[in-house]
Amino acid sequence: MAHSKALLVLENFIGGKFVPCSSYIDSYNPSTGDVYCKVPDSGKEEVEAAVKAAKDAFPIWSSKSPLERSQILNKLADLIEHDLEAFAQAESKDQGKTITFARTVDIPRAVYNFRFFASSILHHTTECTEMAIMGCVHYTSRAPVGVAGLISPWNLPLYLLTWKIAPAIACGNTVVAKPSEMTSVTAWMMCKLLEKAGVPHGVVNVVFGTGAKAGEALVCHPDVPLISFTGSTLTAQRITEKSAPHCKRLSLELGGKNPAIVFDDADLTQCIPTTLRSSFANQGEICLCTSRIFVQRGIYSEFLKRFVAEAKEWKVGNPSDPTVDVGALISKEHLEKVRSYVKKAQAEGARVLCGEGVDSLALPAGNQKGYFMLPTVIAEVKDESCCMQEEIFGPVTCVVAFDTEEEVIKRANSVKYGLAATVWSSNVGRVHRVAQRLQSGLVWTNCWLVRDLNLPFGGMKASGIGREGAKDSYEFFTEVKTITIKH
Ligand code: NAD
Repeated sequence: MAHSKALLVLENFIGGKFVPCSSYIDSYNPSTGDVYCKVPDSGKEEVEAAVKAAKDAFPIWSSKSPLERSQILNKLADLIEHDLEAFAQAESKDQGKTITFARTVDIPRAVYNFRFFASSILHHTTECTEMAIMGCVHYTSRAPVGVAGLISPWNLPLYLLTWKIAPAIACGNTVVAKPSEMTSVTAWMMCKLLEKAGVPHGVVNVVFGTGAKAGEALVCHPDVPLISFTGSTLTAQRITEKSAPHCKRLSLELGGKNPAIVFDDADLTQCIPTTLRSSFANQGEICLCTSRIFVQRGIYSEFLKRFVAEAKEWKVGNPSDPTVDVGALISKEHLEKVRSYVKKAQAEGARVLCGEGVDSLALPAGNQKGYFMLPTVIAEVKDESCCMQEEIFGPVTCVVAFDTEEEVIKRANSVKYGLAATVWSSNVGRVHRVAQRLQSGLVWTNCWLVRDLNLPFGGMKASGIGREGAKDSYEFFTEVKTITIKH
C-alpha cells in the first residue's frame, strides 16, 4: 500500500523486527482533526505471528535471573528518559493532551514504571512453613506464566502500557501488547529502543489495530494464558466472555464515577485547586478523575462560587502551547458523547454554571477543527441522573449539596462503579471513618493522585477485578506452586 510521504506509518513489532501490515487505519491528531498517522489494522494473522515470537522467546527470557532482567529494564528506562521530549511531543499530538501533562506526567511515569519494577523484582520472597509433627516443610515457588496479552486504552497511552509491560517482563514473561488504535505512536517509538536496551527479540511484541480485530484475536488465542486489560467496563465484559472458554487469568482495570466529598471543615484553599485538577486534568480523561462533588450544605454556596470562578481560568487550546491547561478530547465521537451528557443534564433541569453551552471558546486558527471543550460545572443534578451515574470521561463535573456524613456515604456509594474517592476534612476521625465505608478501591483524603506504586491499585464493583502494584502485579504475572518436603 502506498502512503503519502509526510504521513507517519507505523508497523507491527514482531520477533524484534518491524513488520508492515496489509491494511491500515487512520489515527487523528485530536487538536487539528487531521490524520496524524497510519496504524496497522492487524488481525488474527499478525497476532498469531506475535504470539509465536513470544512463545519462542519465553524459554531464554524466563531463565534469565531477576538481576539480568532488572538491568535491561533500567537500560530501557534510561533510553526513554533520554528521548523524553520526543516522546512527550508525540503523546501530546496523538492524544490531544497538553504538552505540559505529557512532559511532567505521562512520559516520566513510563520511565518510572520500568525503574520501579526493575527494582521491585529483586526484592520478592516466597513463603515457607514448617509442620514439625509430620516432619514436613512447605514452601511456595513462583514462575512466570508464559505469553502475556496486554491491552491498553488511549487516555494515558505509554504510561498505562508500560505499567503492564514492565511487571510482565520483569517477572520473566514474554508479551504481546495491543495499544489503543487511537494512540499507538509512543508504543511504536518504544519498540525502536528495545534492541539497544538489550531486550531479546520476541520478548516484547506489539501488534497495532482495533479492539474488535487485533484485541479479540489476542484474547481468544489459546497460547496466551493471561490478559491484563485496562479500558471500559463494557469491553471488559466482552473480554471476560471471550476468554472464558480458555479459563484465562484476567486483570481488569476499568471505568469509574468517582466522588469527592467536601465536609464543611475542609481547607478550601487546598481543596478547590486540587478538585479542579481532579476534575479537569488531562481533559477529565483519567479513570481517577472526580465527576461527582458532594459539598456539605454550610459551605456549598461558597465552594461553588470559588470553584466555578477558578474553572473559568483554565485555559483551553493548542496542546503544544505550554501555557494551556486543557487540550483536545480524543475524538470527534467522544466529544459529541461528552457534550450529549451536558445537554441531558440541562433537559433534566440541572444548571450548567460554566463551560459547554454557557461560555464561548476561542480557538487558534490551526485548531478550529480540533475536539475541544471548556471545563464544565453542573449543579442541581439529581443522583439518579445519567450524569451522576455514568462515566462521562471528559471535562465535566457535577456539584451537589449534602447534610450528614451518613447520607453522603450512602449517596457516594450509590453507583455501579468503585474506583477512586476523595475525602476533604480536617477531622482525622472522620476521614478514617468515611474512607473505611466508601466502596472504592482507592480513597485519597485531602489530596488526589498521590501514588505509591508498592500498594494495590484497582477498583471494586464495575471498576475492575484484581489489583496492580509491586506485590499484586508480581502475583498476577507469576504462577505459584506449593511444594511439600517430608524430611
Ligand atoms: P476501550 O475499552 O474502548 O478500549 C481499551 C482497549 O481495549 C483498546 O486497546 C481497544 O482497542 C481494546 N478493545 C476494544 N474492544 C476490544 C475487544 N472486544 N477485545 C479486546 N480488546 C478490545 O476503552 P478506551 O475508550 O480506550 O478507554 C477509556 C476507558 O478506560 C474508560 O472507561 C476509563 O475509565 C478506562 N480506564 C481505566 C483505567 C484504570 O486503571 N481503572 C485507566 C485508564 C482508563
